[in-house]
Amino acid sequence: MKARAIAVLSAILIAMPFAATAQNYPVTQGKTYKFEKVADGVYYATGGFGSNNVVIVNDQDVLVVDDGTTPAAARAFIEDIKAITNKPIRYVVNTHFHYDHTDGNSAFGPEVQIIAHEYVRTAIATFDVLNREPFITSQKTAVPARIEALTKQIAAEKDPQKKAALQKDLAAAQTNWSQLQEIKPTPPNITYSSKMVLHKGAREIQLLFLGRGHTGGDTVVFLPRERIVCTGDLMESRLAYMGDAFFDEWVATLGALKNLDFALVLPGHGVPFGDKGLITAFQGYLTDVTKKVADLRAQGVTAEEAARRVDLTSHQKDFPQITGPGADVRGVRRIYAWMDERAKK
Ligand SMILES: [Zn+2]
Repeated sequence: MKARAIAVLSAILIAMPFAATAQNYPVTQGKTYKFEKVADGVYYATGGFGSNNVVIVNDQDVLVVDDGTTPAAARAFIEDIKAITNKPIRYVVNTHFHYDHTDGNSAFGPEVQIIAHEYVRTAIATFDVLNREPFITSQKTAVPARIEALTKQIAAEKDPQKKAALQKDLAAAQTNWSQLQEIKPTPPNITYSSKMVLHKGAREIQLLFLGRGHTGGDTVVFLPRERIVCTGDLMESRLAYMGDAFFDEWVATLGALKNLDFALVLPGHGVPFGDKGLITAFQGYLTDVTKKVADLRAQGVTAEEAARRVDLTSHQKDFPQITGPGADVRGVRRIYAWMDERAKK
């Protein structure tokens, strides 16, 4: 027991240069990204523009999971990774095709392999991703609207201090907008269809397609020895975007996820968690939103009206972002479209 206590103490002492977070993981703060060391060589990266990412440092090289909304975000990520390792980044895994996980792809050099499910390549190559959801509402129209609103507020503001703060916000929004212009949707150059395994020294990295759900091709990155799974937006710690979802399949895919032997989930948004009960709760939410929206649709209600009326407040305790009736209209429109597709079959 004594030797064990000393080992624990020395582990704490080694971790001393880092500040502790709520989860008590050692932290390295880069210029933009915060890295939480969740296991030996495994870091959860937050604070960038877009997805939360994962950095997996192997014997010889580095694999990252997802890369944010813009090439500028990815460059900041690449730069900050130097604070935790000097090994070269050789692999990027895109968990799915959405802009906030893949639009940093073009920032990586030709020595970097970009790996994803084959659906991600098809989506980025053929969906015209910068002229469809979720990019349109979340970025393409949101950022100019913010610039316009801030410009009006600045013109009306008399207080010099408040005016200066607004001008700072405006400058940030304008930088954001110019960085969005640099996006060149870049598909993965290595694809797989059901499972791919990378053996990196002692580390085994499994890329798993467990079924359709959040999109038609989400990858979970599973580290069996570390008992860690990176879930992208297939499973977040909060409610995920549903605009490209396959709802009943998503519930089943989450069931397959729960069958993996892991102790820690690193999601594409939100915070790390270990409780499989949250996955069950999200399955319940998906089942419920699908049923309730279907009922409204059967009453002849439009998708927009259904999005305002659908009551999911019973899920508030698991997903505190629910503050009243309603759901994201893009998700509700998708439920309508998905039901139309199914009706045709
Ligand atoms: Zn996302």
